[in-house]
Amino acid sequence: MAISKDVVVVGLGAFGSAALWRLAGRGVDVAGIERQGIGHHLGSSHGATRLFRIACLEHPGLTPIAQQSLALWTALGERTGEVFVRQSGCLNVGAPYSRAVRGAIAAASAAGAPIEELGHDELAARYPQYAGLGADDVAVWDPGAGICYAEPIVRAQVAEAERLGAAVYPHTMVTGVELVDSGVVVRTPTVEFRARQVVVCAGAWLGKLVGDLPLSPRRTPLYWFRAKDSGEFDLGRFPAFVWKREGAHSLWGHGSGDGFGVKIGLEHLETEAGRVVVDPDEVDRYIHLRADVDELAETVADAFPGLEPRPEKVLPCMITDSPDGQFLVGRPGEDPRLVIAGGDSGHGFKHAGGLGELLAQLTVDESPYCDATFLDPNRFTR
Ligand SMILES: Cc1cc2nc3c(=O)[nH]c(=O)nc-3n(C[C@H](O)[C@H](O)[C@H](O)COP(=O)(O)OP(=O)(O)OC[C@H]3O[C@@H](n4cnc5c(N)ncnc54)[C@H](O)[C@@H]3O)c2cc1C
Repeated sequence: MAISKDVVVVGLGAFGSAALWRLAGRGVDVAGIERQGIGHHLGSSHGATRLFRIACLEHPGLTPIAQQSLALWTALGERTGEVFVRQSGCLNVGAPYSRAVRGAIAAASAAGAPIEELGHDELAARYPQYAGLGADDVAVWDPGAGICYAEPIVRAQVAEAERLGAAVYPHTMVTGVELVDSGVVVRTPTVEFRARQVVVCAGAWLGKLVGDLPLSPRRTPLYWFRAKDSGEFDLGRFPAFVWKREGAHSLWGHGSGDGFGVKIGLEHLETEAGRVVVDPDEVDRYIHLRADVDELAETVADAFPGLEPRPEKVLPCMITDSPDGQFLVGRPGEDPRLVIAGGDSGHGFKHAGGLGELLAQLTVDESPYCDATFLDPNRFTR
């Protein structure tokens, strides 16, 4: 059987579901194909929450994309009666010259976004949970930041796309994407899709489907902890944070709230241990107490002694790194039939709504709402 569409989106995680929604909203005849169920736990977008930051320390160009996500998700939430972003703020903690502090200041000042700088003593007094603060550690408070609700966003983006006319094919694996004279053929075991363009957002599988991309998927679990003294680690008292620690593994996370626990993640020192590349089809989905938990438990005991050091819940997840830590969004080889978005590098969720808008604009040939040239997938070969 063959189905003709104007555009096909492959992969309906955070990025693909956003692209599908934004394309459907423009009246494009679009289909979205996902090999699992919608909102599944086998890719990169599962779990209740992700950090949402405005002062994006990774690159000042990311702030307008996060702001676009916020605007789109707020409007979607007003329509559906849900809340997708909770602006409870975020602390960027580290030495004054650290990436957390300098990067957040640079991004906020480029975008004119408000921030507050906290000196060491003020930080320690306001947030006594940070027992492991270094002598030089200070913080940048990003009041527009907070957390976003990951799985509900993916589901709502797909539901909204369907409401706007998109055709959705869950549990359908794309086995090949072939560029042909008339456009593109997207193959699945049962149906063949013919379209003018394809938008491939296959997360850790992007390199497998498109090939020849500098992407490195790695297994990175999600962890939730319990506070020893209830209240001290509620989201209101222990907001989202990124903590670049001197000579130690860096940490990020946020406090607990309705339906979610205290979340803490560890960013390895720049060692091989944290950078093992995996085949996403063969990634280890078991949790190993020694390899997955011991190191983080030791770091948490040192940094936040008010938490039970061993997590109460752990789920495997995947991050797909690019060589410079920025996403790959655009047309590889400038091919007019193919658009990709991937290489999330561990900080992509908050940008998904804004990236979906950029992907739709690129596909229908509209001017982009912000400069995204730093995400051009061809930047490594130029
Ligand atoms: C531990 C961890 C913590 C993170 N913390 C944060 C954070 O705090 N803030 C933040 O902004 N970001 C964070 N991220 C990053 C964020 O979660 C990712 O950037 C985002 O989820 C990537 O979405 P994606 O759509 O690219 O990938 P995915 O969600 O994996 O979507 C890709 C989809 O493609 C589908 N697919 C693959 N191959 C095929 C095929 N052949 N046919 C059909 N479908 C296919 C997959 O099933 C999948 O659903 C974190 C990531 C991890 C792992």
